[in-house]
Amino acid sequence: MAEAARLMLGLLTGLGDGRVDVIQAVGALRSCVRPELADGLVGWVPSLAAHRLSQVPNDHDDESATVPENVQVAVQNLLSGGTQGILDHDELQSLTSVAGPIPSHDQSEWASAVFAPMSMPGQAAGVIIYWRSAQRPPFSTQEADVLLTLTNRCTPLIVATALADHQLFDRDLADSLPEAIIAVDPDFRVLRWNPAAERLYGISAEDAIGNPLATLYFTHYDDPEMHTDRAWEELVRTDHWEGYVTQKSKAGRTVSVFASVTTVRDDLARIVGAVAVNRDTSDIVSARSRVNLAESMLYDVLDAAGSMTVVLDGNGIIVAANREWLDVALATGAPMAVVSVGADYLSPVRAAVAAGDVTAGPALELLESVLSGSRNTGSAEYRCDRPDGPHWYTMDVSRVGPDRAIVVAHREVTDRHRLEVELAHGRTHDLLTDLGNRLWLEERVSRSMAEPSQEGREFGLIVCDVDGFSAINEALGYPSGDKVLRVVADRLRTLCPPTLGIVRLGGDQFAVFADSMWGAVPLVDVAERLRAGVAEPIDIDGRQVVISFSAGVAAAMPKNGDTPAEITSELINRADAARMDAKSQGRNRVRHYRPDLRDQSVSALLMRHDFSDALHAGTLELHYQQIRRLADESVIGYEALIRWPRPNGPLLTPASFAEMLDEPTIAGPLAQWTIKTAVEAVVSLREHFADQSVRVGLNVSARQFLDLDVAGNIQRASRSAGIPSSALVVEVTETATFTDNHRVVDQLNRIHDLGALIALDDFGTGFSSLTHLRALPVDSVKVDKTFTGGVGTDPTSGALVRALIALGHDLGLTVIAEGVETAAQRDWLAEAGCDYYQGFLAHRPARLADELAASGN
Ligand code: C2E
Ligand code: CA
Ligand code: CA
Repeated sequence: MAEAARLMLGLLTGLGDGRVDVIQAVGALRSCVRPELADGLVGWVPSLAAHRLSQVPNDHDDESATVPENVQVAVQNLLSGGTQGILDHDELQSLTSVAGPIPSHDQSEWASAVFAPMSMPGQAAGVIIYWRSAQRPPFSTQEADVLLTLTNRCTPLIVATALADHQLFDRDLADSLPEAIIAVDPDFRVLRWNPAAERLYGISAEDAIGNPLATLYFTHYDDPEMHTDRAWEELVRTDHWEGYVTQKSKAGRTVSVFASVTTVRDDLARIVGAVAVNRDTSDIVSARSRVNLAESMLYDVLDAAGSMTVVLDGNGIIVAANREWLDVALATGAPMAVVSVGADYLSPVRAAVAAGDVTAGPALELLESVLSGSRNTGSAEYRCDRPDGPHWYTMDVSRVGPDRAIVVAHREVTDRHRLEVELAHGRTHDLLTDLGNRLWLEERVSRSMAEPSQEGREFGLIVCDVDGFSAINEALGYPSGDKVLRVVADRLRTLCPPTLGIVRLGGDQFAVFADSMWGAVPLVDVAERLRAGVAEPIDIDGRQVVISFSAGVAAAMPKNGDTPAEITSELINRADAARMDAKSQGRNRVRHYRPDLRDQSVSALLMRHDFSDALHAGTLELHYQQIRRLADESVIGYEALIRWPRPNGPLLTPASFAEMLDEPTIAGPLAQWTIKTAVEAVVSLREHFADQSVRVGLNVSARQFLDLDVAGNIQRASRSAGIPSSALVVEVTETATFTDNHRVVDQLNRIHDLGALIALDDFGTGFSSLTHLRALPVDSVKVDKTFTGGVGTDPTSGALVRALIALGHDLGLTVIAEGVETAAQRDWLAEAGCDYYQGFLAHRPARLADELAASGN
């Protein structure tokens, strides 16, 4: 006994009438300090059997049972002053010197004690003193904490046991407690039902006492598992049961209680009944269920987010992840422990960086900078190698408040990435033959110019075309024409030495580039071989089509300061002049370039004069092509296209004078004229059709943006004509928006601010990245006619156009298809979800006067 530390007694205080009952609480503690809880307490959970009732008055009406007032005051001081925890020997001495001896205990043995208040909601129920003799080390802070927690947890139980032990069922004490005290006999008939029970269940003591508990609140029990029989079995087996249960009051209100039920045994250890102390925890339970709800809602929200989402703490540890994320993360073959809650999200990213994955670098940098707080949000695109091939994702990382969670939302962008790669390829390649295009040639020339060994060397180019190709097209139809071009491309591929670069310049024109005129085989010989080889008959649907081939060969030597574009132009112009020469010599031959063939450039100079004159004389024209809604064929607006009527000559389209549009002396004034003329057209069209929604689109090139304040001109022109700027649509090519300086994009923003719309022309032919597109103030995209031309017949174009439409819609833009020539194309586009179209099928560009007259309004 001296060796063991002791649990001594509980002082039940706080009774309304000021009485303090001394109740020993051994029974209660023995059952609540179960082996698993007792581990840390072994040695001082005492057996105080010896102290039992012999030392505690069991007649509570006996005034001698009342703790002396000084003890009562000291204990109350303890409770109200919050003094709880360890008291050393001296403090204990001073306590007892104030309080006087606590009855029936030898305080000389106390060396260290823990005072643990027992509080029931609303009032102090007493204090338990745990104490140790001097032979044992004093209580440590941790031990005191355990005891305090334990006491807090066990208070209802202690009270219940104390009550049971002392058969206090019908005493004032029970009546004054805020807990429902219910005593039952072995048949679960109610013996005691205190006022708190009446309040909790809405059943009066009179109605309850004598009746089986099952006819009271257990009848309403929600949880069948908690059936009375089971509760009783459990109770008999363990002598004690406690836990949260949900019950119903008589009025049907759901009552959540923390129940402590303890058996009462007689001297022969037979169970004579049980006491339940039920604490109303409805508030706590609902608060807790709100927390649970919030948590499960968080997961619902994450699951519904539609993207793979992970929430990280400030150290990058995953604290929540939705199902989509887990599914995808596990599909990479990563083990659960690496991707689920508790894992370090960054470590696989670091591993990827270490393994040399270049896409992981920006992702890691982004994550680290958001974690460190140097930025709040950002996104990165990265590759993830999965067993079925590489997948691409974007991660949008954002911090939610300072020192708060970091949300990482992932989207798979594999298809878009593929599309971007395809389009990047499409930018430099010809769709029909998959040969390089003019841009590809320019890049190739540029690379050759960069090689030091190329200095002083001549570049060579063959330009060739199929003789009479337009006749083939007309006779056999365009699909057959396309087939011929594909065969020619294939033959060029087989016939050309691999060091040469083959491109399709457009139409039936091809070119072959050599970075040295005099390689193993002189370029003229190569051209001759191509001419002979390509001219084999071609089988088109069983018909033998005989073609011939004309080629021109030219050379050029880059000088200091020449740009690749200039060299490319020079090569093409010369070789083309030679090709024309071959044609004029009777076709099916190869000619070499001679300077006297350059007369053409002289005529180009003359043409520039003429065009400039036409601009200033006001003889240029804008023609208007209808833009229609695919859903109902209604005309929503027009695109203005420039035409040059030559005196006594044909009406020229930009194909014949495109380079003129960007001439330094022409670009600006021309754009000014276009804006003014388009604004006048808006006024006429709106008035004529009595429709204020008709818009007119006008084309503005990069050069024109740089040479003219387009925004200012639009503002002035529309104001003086009395129309809103929103009547105008500015069509700008994607490539124009890539111009190095920001002037084009700045102007677009200003134009957009005015209310005019911006359409991205030739969508799909020039773009490098979506990020770039997102940053532009664009309202619609126009899918180029090179793509539209193939829909319905060529699966590649079909897939591409579908992807472009989806991309446009993804960006929140309307999509207009250009160059629609057949009903089949139109129907296909309507089905694919495209919004508007224009093309020869519906309407050829027409003079404004003709358009107004045709509508007969
Ligand atoms: P764009 O902006 O792509 O214009 C569409 C071109 O497609 C127009 O050629 C139009 O006549 C043609 N087109 C329309 N429907 C069909 C069809 O069903 N089939 C075919 N094969 N073609 C169709 P256009 O008028 O020759 O203009 C060519 C390019 O010249 C324009 O391409 C635009 O980039 C430029 N352009 C035209 N007018 C202006 C202008 O006023 N200023 C500037 N800077 N550029 C202009
Ligand atoms: Ca256009
Ligand atoms: Ca276009």
